[in-house]
Amino acid sequence: MGLIAFLKKKFKKEDNKENNLQVKYDEGLSKSRAAFADRLAALSKKYKKAESPYFEELEEILIEADVGVDLALRLVEKIIEKSKEESLSSIDELNEELIDLMFVSYLEKGSITNDLDFKETPVVLLMEGVNGVGKTTSIAKLAYRYQQLGKKVLLVAGDTFRAGATEQLAIWAQRLNVPLVVGKPGQDPASVAYDGVKKAKELSCDLVIVDTAGRLQNKANLMAELGKITRVISKEIPNAPQETFLVIDATTGQNGVEQAKKFSEANKVTGIVLTKMDGTSKGGIVLSIRENIGVPVRFIGLGEKMTDLEEFDLERYLHGLLVGTNDE
Ligand code: GDP
Repeated sequence: MGLIAFLKKKFKKEDNKENNLQVKYDEGLSKSRAAFADRLAALSKKYKKAESPYFEELEEILIEADVGVDLALRLVEKIIEKSKEESLSSIDELNEELIDLMFVSYLEKGSITNDLDFKETPVVLLMEGVNGVGKTTSIAKLAYRYQQLGKKVLLVAGDTFRAGATEQLAIWAQRLNVPLVVGKPGQDPASVAYDGVKKAKELSCDLVIVDTAGRLQNKANLMAELGKITRVISKEIPNAPQETFLVIDATTGQNGVEQAKKFSEANKVTGIVLTKMDGTSKGGIVLSIRENIGVPVRFIGLGEKMTDLEEFDLERYLHGLLVGTNDE
C-alpha cells in the first residue's frame, strides 16, 4: 500500500476526539496542501511521460510548498533516477514515490523522541525564539503539559530585556501555580538562569523551563549570550541544558527556516516548537528545517490556550499536507 492510501485509511478510523486533532492539522495545512498536493495531482493529468517539463514543474511545486531548495533538488534527482527504472514510469507512480521519499527524508535524519527524558532531574529546557513567535505561550503550554503528567515544574524569566516579558510569564506562572524565578530589569540572563536552576534543585523540581531574550541579534552576540547561560547553569547541573527548543511561527515560511539556521549556528538546538499550525501555515518548512538543520519538530501549537499543544506527528502532518479533509 502506498503512503497516501495508508494515511487515508489510518485517519478515517479514529474516534471523534482524535479526528478533531486531525482536522486541526488538515485545516492548518490547507494552504500548503493547495500549493502542493493539488498541483501534484494536476501533473499526472498534464503529463503522460516522465520527461524534463514534468521534472521542472515538480521542482517548482516543491520549492513553492516551502520544502526548501536543497530538499526539492534532492527529491527531484531521486525521482529522475526512479523514472529510469522500468517498473516506475507513470506520473502517478512517480508522485507516489515522491511522497514516500519525503517521509523517508524526514526519518533518515535520525530517530525522534518528542517527549522529554526525565531519567535525570531536574531537566533544564532552554526556550529560544524571536519576539512574537509564541515563545511565552509555548512555555506555558509545556509547563501545563508536564504538570499534567505529574512533574514539578519551575519557570525562569530569563528575558530581562523586553519590558513585559517577565510580567507575561508571571501571569502564566500564577495561573499554572508553578514557581517562577525572576531577575531585575536588565540583569544578566545567565545569572537569572543560574538562580533558577539552583532554586529548582532546592525544590526538587523535575523540569526547569528557562525563557531567553527574543531579540533578533547578530550571531556573535547570540552565541555569547546563549553560551554564557549554558556555561553558568552547567556549573550546577553538568549536562544542562539537556534540551534547547527553538520556537518558530509556522506562518512565516522560509523566514522561519532562516531563524532556525541562525539559532542552531549559535548553539545546539534539540527541537523545534512550531506554533500557529492552526493558522494558515506554510507547512513545507517542517521538512525544510529537518533537511537543512537536522532538528526535528517536537511539539506543535494549535491555538492560544494552555491545552493547545500536541506532540508533532509526522503521519498526521503528511495527511494534512497531502490528503486533507475534502478527500475521501
Ligand atoms: P512571544 O513574543 O514569542 O513570547 O509570543 P507570545 O507567546 O506572546 O505569543 C504571541 C501571540 O501569538 C499571542 O497572541 C499568542 O496568543 C499567539 N499564539 C501563540 N501560539 C499560538 C498558536 O499555536 N496558535 C495561535 N493561533 N496563536 C498562538
